[in-house]
Amino acid sequence: MNSYLIALGSNMRHHRFGSPERVLQAALDELDKRGIKVMHTARPIRSAPLGPSLRRYANSAAVVKCKLDPDELLDELKAIERAFGRRSGGQRWGSRVLDLDIVLWSGGAWSAPGLTVPHMAFRERRFVLGPAAEIAGDWRDPLTGLTLRQLNRRRIRLESQPIGACPT
Ligand code: ADP
Ligand code: MG
Repeated sequence: MNSYLIALGSNMRHHRFGSPERVLQAALDELDKRGIKVMHTARPIRSAPLGPSLRRYANSAAVVKCKLDPDELLDELKAIERAFGRRSGGQRWGSRVLDLDIVLWSGGAWSAPGLTVPHMAFRERRFVLGPAAEIAGDWRDPLTGLTLRQLNRRRIRLESQPIGACPT
């Protein structure tokens, strides 16, 4: 069995499920239905949009277990995104009903065309690190050797630097 840490995000209402928070819950139910066992889920947070979109996000994280390799799991995640009405080829960082990313997995680093684990940007994203540290604080980033708890604290420290300060 492989363990994965998945980041979930939504910043649009769904015609059936409703608010972004409900979209995230429905996505977790859908993972379970597909045999991807949801072990832990973080409380959803609200975060400001990244890039051109103006709508706020709901973000969460989940620890899941399954037999799938990372590329097989990504196929499932993309199928779920499509089932929830996400269009491919949309604007990067535009509004999306559902975004499912693989942040970490139990097998260390994985790199293939179209998939890099650990997720390239997660160390800079508070809306990923906050929920992730809540449920998997002891998980270690194979690239930096830091735990999610440490990365999250570091992120918070960097954000509290006065403007103009240049943290090294
Ligand atoms: P983002 O998640 O950064 O907001 P997208 O959801 O549009 O952006 O993802 C763009 C592409 O990133 C996906 O089609 C996928 O192939 C690729 N990708 C690379 N690494 C990962 C990962 N760890 N988890 C999810 N997608 C990834
Ligand atoms: Mg994504």
